[in-house]
Amino acid sequence: MPMQSKKTFALVNYEICNPIKCNPDKGICAAVQACSHKVIKQIDGVFEPPIIFQDMCMGCWDCIEVCQLDAIQIKHIGS
Ligand code: SF4
Ligand code: SF4
Repeated sequence: MPMQSKKTFALVNYEICNPIKCNPDKGICAAVQACSHKVIKQIDGVFEPPIIFQDMCMGCWDCIEVCQLDAIQIKHIGS
């Protein structure tokens, strides 16, 4: 695969993200489950906000579509 000068990735807004609010019963992040590339994980456990491994994020939007609180945004870098 050629090197890309442009990169699109998802970014969690930790001021908005709140797994206690989006899933009060289980604290499971819907975005984690939606990411078929497995690059967003609740590494600190359920009821904790997820981390996105941005180097491996495909910028596919799947996580954004399922986050009820709109806590995930797409970021573009490069030209
Ligand atoms: S990213 Fe969205 S779905 Fe995931 S825990 Fe945060 S608010 Fe909930
Ligand atoms: S944009 Fe796609 S690859 Fe990146 S974290 Fe979201 S679902 Fe996963």
